[in-house]
Amino acid sequence: MSLGRKERSIFDKPLSKFQNTQFTLAEIASEIQVGRSFMDQLVLQHMQGKNLVQEVSMAKYWVCEMENRVASRCLQLFGGYGYCKEYEISRMWTDARVQTIYAGTSEVMKLVISRGLGL
Ligand SMILES: Cc1cc2nc3c(=O)[nH]c(=O)nc-3n(C[C@H](O)[C@H](O)[C@H](O)COP(=O)(O)OP(=O)(O)OC[C@H]3O[C@@H](n4cnc5c(N)ncnc54)[C@H](O)[C@@H]3O)c2cc1C
Repeated sequence: MSLGRKERSIFDKPLSKFQNTQFTLAEIASEIQVGRSFMDQLVLQHMQGKNLVQEVSMAKYWVCEMENRVASRCLQLFGGYGYCKEYEISRMWTDARVQTIYAGTSEVMKLVISRGLGL
C-alpha cells in the first residue's frame, strides 16, 4: 500500500503542490546528497589506506542523525497514515531510530570527534 505525495490531495490540491512539501523535499534531498558525497569521499580515502577515525566518527554521527531527521520529516508529510504500520515510512522511521545508538552512539561519536579537535 502506498500513498504517494503526488496522489494525496488536501483542499483540492495535491500535497506536492504545497510549498511546504516542495521545500521539505528540497531540503531532504540536499541533506541526503551531502551525506552521500561525504560517504563516497570516505570510501575512496579508506581504499587509499588513510587513517580516518575522526572523519568516520563525524560521518557516523552526522549521517545517522540526518537519517532520523529525514525519516521524521517524511513521516510528517504522510500525516496520520505515516504512523500506521501498514505504511513503509513508519517502518523506515522506526529503523532509523536505532542508527544513532548501535555501533557507537552519537554522544560517543562526539566524544571521539572532540578528542580529535584536541579538547
Ligand atoms: C539492534 C541492536 C544491535 C546491536 N548489535 C550489536 C552487535 O552486533 N555487536 C555489538 O558489539 N553490539 C551491538 N549492539 C550494542 C550497541 O553497540 C550498544 O547498544 C551501543 O554501543 C550503546 O551502548 P549501550 O547500549 O550500552 O548504551 P550506554 O553506553 O549505556 O549509553 C546510554 C546513554 O549514555 C550515553 N553515553 C554513554 N557514554 C557516554 C559518555 N562517555 N558521554 C556522554 N554520553 C554517554 C549514550 O550515548 C547513551 O545515550 C547492538 C545494539 C542494538 C540496539
